[in-house]
Amino acid sequence: MKPTLRQSIQRLGIVDVHEHHMPELLLNRDVSLLQLFRQSYAGWTQARPYPLPFETRTGDPMLADAGPTTWAALTPFLEHSGSSMFVRNLVGAVTSLYGDGEPAITRKNWRALDTAVRKNHRRPDWCQTVLRRAGIERVITDPYNDPLLDAPRALGNNYLSVMRLNAFACGWHPDACDHNGNRGHALLRRCGVQPDSFGAYLRGLEKVVEGLAARQQVALKNALAYDRDVAFDEPDEKLARRAWGQPSPSPAERKAFSDLIVDRFCKLAGERDVPVQMHLGTALIRGSHPLTAAGLFERHPRTRFLLMHLAYPWSRDLLGLAFVYRNLWLDLTWSLLLSPSHFKLALHEAIEVLPDESRLMIGGDNWHVEETYGAMQWARRLIGEVLEEKVASGYFRREDAERLARKILRENAIRFFKLEGSE
Ligand SMILES: [Zn+2]
Repeated sequence: MKPTLRQSIQRLGIVDVHEHHMPELLLNRDVSLLQLFRQSYAGWTQARPYPLPFETRTGDPMLADAGPTTWAALTPFLEHSGSSMFVRNLVGAVTSLYGDGEPAITRKNWRALDTAVRKNHRRPDWCQTVLRRAGIERVITDPYNDPLLDAPRALGNNYLSVMRLNAFACGWHPDACDHNGNRGHALLRRCGVQPDSFGAYLRGLEKVVEGLAARQQVALKNALAYDRDVAFDEPDEKLARRAWGQPSPSPAERKAFSDLIVDRFCKLAGERDVPVQMHLGTALIRGSHPLTAAGLFERHPRTRFLLMHLAYPWSRDLLGLAFVYRNLWLDLTWSLLLSPSHFKLALHEAIEVLPDESRLMIGGDNWHVEETYGAMQWARRLIGEVLEEKVASGYFRREDAERLARKILRENAIRFFKLEGSE
């Protein structure tokens, strides 16, 4: 019997264009059930892990010690936040990977699940085993703890990384850092650049981009929506220069400095045909609306931007942008973990409005492989449901749906990041 569309989508290999898999977590052999909740989007239900402009923080709460797994420590997730999709995804993944058929984490089974998590993570091959079970062939990771990480060397041959540019855009002073605690000056020095003047700093960015290939990095990543607004305006070099060397420049000087750095990176990326991934939506939500970034896309028509998360909650505005500007591609990452029902609605529209079939890609956006496993199960299911609905309504044929599914899960990413023949 011929498999259903959903079944054939289950069997497709995935090229996962966005994760936060990093050595600190992936190579840790001491992982507990509670850690999976703390170091995942489920953790975001208890406390937002990034500061808003009026807040400060000392370290990254997601990388802090979780403490021992107890029923009392699990109930805030499982009961108080049990309705959140972030929790639903992780519960589904944990019980499917470690459980005995019971689809819930309960007072009765939590100890056995915790033991199974710990036991399996002691195996050095466990993370790769979970990726294989999820049908993931390649992973492009954003290891923000070390933006210059050579991911294949650190994590395995099926990994590649992107270079987060935030620290460079916040590097007006040697001690200035981005929200992840990275300093632009220190990163430049690691690339062999002495940033002892504003001019040397700017020229050094070219060397950073030239070094991408040697570090096996396939794109730049702009996650500045967590540091500032995304209105990356026409650079004002004079104002940007006034920020240089100051421990605490004015907001206007800071903005001009990072506007200039982002513009330089986008120009260098366009000249070298290196894609730029960009976070849009939520984050510092007063300034993360996708339309405010339109100037950047217009000034760099040769640069290929991969815009993330369906710019939730402004997915329709994002689709409008991607309809108008032909240098935009969309990474559906995270949007399905925020809201599967909104994801389906937006995917229906995206299929209809985007100019061609190359524009959509998928990722997990997770820290541990369990969460990635769950995200990809959901991705297959939701994409399958949307495509089945499209076929049932007569929008297109099953063959068209199958071709599009292969492109979204795998082929578009291979072409976009030029992964053919690379291993
Ligand atoms: Zn992310």
